[in-house]
Amino acid sequence: MGTLVEVKVVSDDPNVAYRAIENAFERMREIEDLMTAKRPGSLVERIGRDAVERAMKIPDELFAVIETCQRYAMLTQGAFDISVAPVTRLWLFDRPMETIPSEEDVRNALEFVGFQGIRLDQKTGSIQLERKGMGLDLGGGAKGYAVDEAVHRLKELGIKAGIVNAGGDLKVFGIKPGRIPWNIGIQDPQHSDRIMGSIMLTDRALVTSGDYERFIVYEGIKYHHIIDPKTGWPARGCKSVSIECHRAFDADILSTAIFVLGPEKGMALLERLPGVEGMIVDASGGIYVSSGWKDKLKLHRSPVP
Ligand code: AMP
Ligand code: MG
Repeated sequence: MGTLVEVKVVSDDPNVAYRAIENAFERMREIEDLMTAKRPGSLVERIGRDAVERAMKIPDELFAVIETCQRYAMLTQGAFDISVAPVTRLWLFDRPMETIPSEEDVRNALEFVGFQGIRLDQKTGSIQLERKGMGLDLGGGAKGYAVDEAVHRLKELGIKAGIVNAGGDLKVFGIKPGRIPWNIGIQDPQHSDRIMGSIMLTDRALVTSGDYERFIVYEGIKYHHIIDPKTGWPARGCKSVSIECHRAFDADILSTAIFVLGPEKGMALLERLPGVEGMIVDASGGIYVSSGWKDKLKLHRSPVP
């Protein structure tokens, strides 16, 4: 998933702990295989190729994941849209890019974006794409989903407390010895070596989407990996969005979606959703904190009035 994953568990028995950690990593590798589109021959890549002329039966787990993504696409009016693949494919953040995609490349790719073109048939557990050229990119939620599943596996193997952290997208569960909650730092999007705030969490997920995670700078302009499906270009309203909720999967999807929606619409959505809290850093560094976080979040600099 292109990130460093850290698993920590609390246990009296180191053998139990090691076994559980190894299992959690195995589970995350399984999910990476299930959800990646980058590897040629992977299931998601094959959907783009083979699920156009006729519907394609897919594993129940992948079906459920895509179904959730579609629900969020509707909720966010397409700000979160896994059909964004033809556009995200134009960018290679893993190596140096000599140039950026042209306006025309982006316009052409955008023709094949639109979550309404993804058809799911619950009865047969199959998927069909409306047009050749469409594809899926599950990268906006995969890490969160993997984190949830890793925590689930740890619990199944008898672990009572721990943390699974995929490069800052994390979930904590149980209480540490001494009954202290987990204290989680949130990275400052403008100074990657600095923490801009921290929060105490118990049995919760915290996920951040930031413009500093994957990007290139071309002719002085930063192009990052979170695409506004309406324009086809990197979303411009935010520097980072951090979301706390029960499942890391939901937090991951929402952090990407709210990043795209921008501070005003994003805050409005955040305040409307029960059990979801968070913070937005806008393009000029202004901080917006949701009402449920006002007394919980310790900020190292002051929010916008
Ligand atoms: P995250 O780091 O969780 O915000 O996810 C960013 C990743 O999600 C990108 O690298 C793409 O794979 C994918 N992505 C980019 N833009 C969108 C979007 N508007 N909706 C859904 N997924 C997206
Ligand atoms: Mg995300």
